[in-house]
Amino acid sequence: MPVLTRGELLSRYADRSSSKYVERAVDAVLQGRVKEHVFLPSNHAVYTVVGRNGDEFIDSGLPFCSCSHFFFSVMRGKSKTCYHLLANSIASEWNLATRTEFHDEEFPYFLKLIASDLLARQGDKEDKDNSEPSDTGPR
Ligand SMILES: [Zn+2]
Repeated sequence: MPVLTRGELLSRYADRSSSKYVERAVDAVLQGRVKEHVFLPSNHAVYTVVGRNGDEFIDSGLPFCSCSHFFFSVMRGKSKTCYHLLANSIASEWNLATRTEFHDEEFPYFLKLIASDLLARQGDKEDKDNSEPSDTGPR
């Protein structure tokens, strides 16, 4: 599958969120910040997106993201998605996630790293600006 240019990706996903978030998502994908952590031999995968404040833990199936935009806006129905989840769906569509393999036994250690990264944060100014008019359509 040919990989699209940044401009092509931006226009392709323009309707998924506000232009600011689509741009952030596309840049995260193109900079290899969508990470697929595959644990073997179980073959279970955990996804993270490296943002301004470290790794965000995401689950596109639920969906869930550990960023504060998700917590304050998406969970309240004010936004459809955060840019991490959008980045993850773009990356999986074009097979652009950065894959890293681990042994299943490393999983507890991996979770500890993610958790300590999350706990080390002092809020998240960037993602708290959730006054996004184009993102807050009526439900
Ligand atoms: Zn997020």
